[in-house]
Amino acid sequence: MLPDLHMHTPRCKHAQGEPEAYAQAARAAGLTRIVFTDHAPLDDEMDRVHRMTRAELLPYHAEIRVLAESWRGRLEIGVGLELDWLAGYEEWIRAAADAAPWDLCLGSVHFVPAPAGWEFIIRRPAGTEQAILAAYWQAWGDAAESGFFQALSHPDVYRSVERDPLPGERELACRALDRAARAGVAVECNTSLIRKGGRTLYPAPWLLEDVLARGIPLSSASDAHRPEQVGSGFQLLEELARDPRARFLDFRGGLGVAVAGGSHHRDTETQRL
Ligand SMILES: [Zn+2]
Ligand SMILES: [Zn+2]
Repeated sequence: MLPDLHMHTPRCKHAQGEPEAYAQAARAAGLTRIVFTDHAPLDDEMDRVHRMTRAELLPYHAEIRVLAESWRGRLEIGVGLELDWLAGYEEWIRAAADAAPWDLCLGSVHFVPAPAGWEFIIRRPAGTEQAILAAYWQAWGDAAESGFFQALSHPDVYRSVERDPLPGERELACRALDRAARAGVAVECNTSLIRKGGRTLYPAPWLLEDVLARGIPLSSASDAHRPEQVGSGFQLLEELARDPRARFLDFRGGLGVAVAGGSHHRDTETQRL
């Protein structure tokens, strides 16, 4: 079974259930490998209600390492971060990424620049996505090239419903995917929309085709914010894994998460497929 490479802990203030409960749920779901990727802090002010503080980074890392040790032989458990990509916050992002030997750093775009500051763009109502497309895909491409991340999370997370591409959306996305392919970062296949009533992954089927056509590696993710969500919707990912074009990242205990091609700033801790 594919590993679940994206889940949270109560440290981010909007997930529930202790890490031990996530591990138990993973085993119950038949998973053998998981990586925690809780929301990393920025400057301890920006969006602090949805992330841990800087002071928690090392305790979080240590807590999950202890958990991993207690599950050794039954479940491989890694510890990583989901980091927000925001222009101007690069030094904060670097500080979190370098704070510990993370197994995986996911890059996410949850905010885009707006006249009144930052605009939160997750699961926007249909019809309002158009306004953020250009800024979103620009930021997403910038994140891909930043060198901080091994995979970029939920690529069309601004989408709340099943729909065809919006005018210009595919062109913007493809330009960003070209940048991701050159940079060698993986694109996450995230099952969280299914829990919100959707039927497809992030990325949507048309976008996934564009990812696969570029030979970009994939990462498998539930984005669980509760233990019972670990591995949810993975039957869609297992189906996708049968596509000969699909190459998924893997997590192998002490080797960290394998990157299929490309480079990363901590190559020594990753293993190539
Ligand atoms: Zn979250
Ligand atoms: Zn997440």
